[in-house]
Amino acid sequence: MIRDNLRKIESDIASACSESGRNREDVKLIAVSKTKPVSALQEAYDLGIRDFGENKVQELLDKYEQMPGDIRWHMIGHLQRNKVKYIVDKVYMIHSVDSYRLAEEISREAVKKNVNVSVLIEVNVAGEESKFGASAEETVSLVEDIAKLPNLTIRGLMTIAPYVENSEENRLYFAKLRQIYVDIIHKNIDNVFMEELSMGMTGDYEVAITEGATYIRVGTGIFGERQYPAV
Ligand SMILES: *Cc1c(COP(=O)(O)O)cnc(C)c1O
Repeated sequence: MIRDNLRKIESDIASACSESGRNREDVKLIAVSKTKPVSALQEAYDLGIRDFGENKVQELLDKYEQMPGDIRWHMIGHLQRNKVKYIVDKVYMIHSVDSYRLAEEISREAVKKNVNVSVLIEVNVAGEESKFGASAEETVSLVEDIAKLPNLTIRGLMTIAPYVENSEENRLYFAKLRQIYVDIIHKNIDNVFMEELSMGMTGDYEVAITEGATYIRVGTGIFGERQYPAV
C-alpha cells in the first residue's frame, strides 16, 4: 500500500511542478510517520524515503533509536522548552519554532552539545486561535531577533494551513507565507538563509507546491489514516 501511495504522490508532485514551472528536485517530501509503527517507516525507508517527520519528542527518540542512521528527522510538532535537550543533536531540522524563548533554549542546548541546528519559523498565517505559530505581523521581527542567537540557523518558514474541504481555499495562505519569505529575503538579515518553505499536507500539497513549497509534509497520503488523533 505504501508503495502505491508513494507512486501516486510522486506523480502528483511531478504534475504540480510542471504546472508551475518548477523543478522536481526543488520539492522535498517528508513522510509524516507520527503514530505509525516502525515497520511502516521501514517500508517507506526501503522504498527510498529518507526524510521523516514526527511531532512528539519521545516518539521521535524511540524511532531514532530503531531506524537506520542516514534518516533526516524533522521535528514538526509543538516543542516544549524542557524537551529541547533530548532532540537538539538528533534532528535534521526543527520546523516549529514559534517564539523567541523556544529559539533561545534551542540555541543554549546547541551550544552545550556543540552542534548547529537548522530551524524554520512557524507562522500561523490564517490566524487560527487553535494553532501555534507566530502571527504574520510579528514574523519579520521574530526572525531578526532569533537570527542573533548562536548555533542556530534560520532556513525558512513553515505553516499548517486550516483544514478545508477544497484545497484551493488554502492557496491564499500559502501565497501569504511565500510573501513573508520574500520580504525577509529582501531584508538580507545576517545569519538567515531563506531556502525552505514547509507547507502542504495530504489534503493540499499540490496547491502548496504551485505556491512555492520546498518541503511538503505528508502523513495520511503515505501511511493511511492514523488510528488515534495525534495532538
Ligand atoms: C500530522 C501532520 C502533518 C501530516 O498530516 P496529513 O494530513 O496526515 O498529511 C503535516 N504537518 C504537521 C505539522 C502535522 O502535525
